[in-house]
Amino acid sequence: MDNKTLWETALAEFELALSQPIFQTWFTRTRILKKEKGIVEIGCPNTHTKERLETRHYRLIKSALDRVTKEDNELTFTIDAQTPALKTPIGPLFETPKTPGTPSKEGDPKNAHGLFEQYTFNNFIIGPNNNLAYAVAQAIVATPGKVYNPLFLYSGVGLGKTHLIQAIGNEIIKKHPALKVIYCTGEAFTNELLEEIQRARQKRGTASRFRNKFRKVDVLIIDDVQFIAGRETTQEEFFHTFNALYMAKKQIVLASDKPPSEISKLAPRLSSRFSSGMTADMQPPDVDVRNAILRRKRTEFALEISNEVIDFIAQAVSSNVRDLEGAFTQVITFAQTQNLAPSLELAQKVLGKTKVTATPRVRSREIIKVIATYFDVTQQELKGPRRLKGIVVPRQIAMYLLRSYTDTPLAGIGEILGGRDHTTVMHGVEKIENQLARSPKVQQDLRNLKAMLRV
Ligand code: ADP
Ligand code: MG
Repeated sequence: MDNKTLWETALAEFELALSQPIFQTWFTRTRILKKEKGIVEIGCPNTHTKERLETRHYRLIKSALDRVTKEDNELTFTIDAQTPALKTPIGPLFETPKTPGTPSKEGDPKNAHGLFEQYTFNNFIIGPNNNLAYAVAQAIVATPGKVYNPLFLYSGVGLGKTHLIQAIGNEIIKKHPALKVIYCTGEAFTNELLEEIQRARQKRGTASRFRNKFRKVDVLIIDDVQFIAGRETTQEEFFHTFNALYMAKKQIVLASDKPPSEISKLAPRLSSRFSSGMTADMQPPDVDVRNAILRRKRTEFALEISNEVIDFIAQAVSSNVRDLEGAFTQVITFAQTQNLAPSLELAQKVLGKTKVTATPRVRSREIIKVIATYFDVTQQELKGPRRLKGIVVPRQIAMYLLRSYTDTPLAGIGEILGGRDHTTVMHGVEKIENQLARSPKVQQDLRNLKAMLRV
């Protein structure tokens, strides 16, 4: 039995075992991604669904799968970018578009430039987390190739990179119809190049088609450019593409999940070129911006949902905009399938949170003091310039705790720690987050520190 049939069989069981809204909300956009050595990997459209299925429906899913396969399966849940689009009356906004720029078998993209028109400046909400990137994007649209070239935009997932760089493309086409714009992902670039090489080998052409496409544009937008790192041929070709365009003063816009210096296996010459123009990052939105994003969607789609419920969702989902939109859609969908108004109780039920548990707040002075004592370093050392390991780690832990238990923005944390840059703080926080996943020592340190801070 193939995975598709297996899942369809299981879904039929879930549909009987669950109420219709529950089934609709949590199961319709899932699928089996892989089944190997007794491990079934289930793809979910977003974090909420993943958490829901993991915590509430694991046993139901397992027993159905075990019964059908006659095996003892283990389940893993992952976020699946290719998840089927949501079929609801809410409309295209809530569908996850196919990764833009990835040529698909069904004859997409609809247009040669690879842009999706739903991504505009107009529906991009600005806040302290992204206003620099936004201003740079606007300046590029006004005079492509003249200011900020290349633009290198980076952020964590779901924070609006694709939206903003697509908006740049869409707006340039509108304002300067004569300019040729191409948007594509690092992955699509790689695939097209490989196909071209194949074709050249079979003597059915040369690399000229590819080069004509990418070197004769006025604006080249590459999304998820980190994908090309570690691939020699692609990096080589990209390097020449980049240079040709750059020399001709054509606009280059790149987006990535990390700054150039942190993309591993990125050729140094590319890294230095990527950093040579304007580098801008975007941070997760604060609660006000999250609120604004949801209110804007309400207006755009004429939805009936109260401020109170929007406030609740905005408070409940802080990770990124994609999850925020996912949660919002779930509340709306649930209400629609059940023919109810999206009330606060309904939203609480759907999101599995009764009230927003505010993270306890601590004074930043207290955090610095406790860390200095715990690691036996002085406060001056924490705030000072020295980069010895014995000081760097406590400093990064300080960044992490300040980030987690105070409302101080990244720049403010940098200030507290002796005038450091906000990106330094962000990297410090990420470092500790990564180690938290792996290092028992760091886990223990944080447990102890939190106990001392009573959080
Ligand atoms: P990334 O490319 O950084 O992973 P996306 O651009 O795909 O993120 O954004 C995820 C979703 O959130 C998209 O639907 C996008 O339209 C939306 N989004 C992100 N940032 C904003 C914003 N500032 N205002 C409005 N919508 C946003
Ligand atoms: Mg993206």
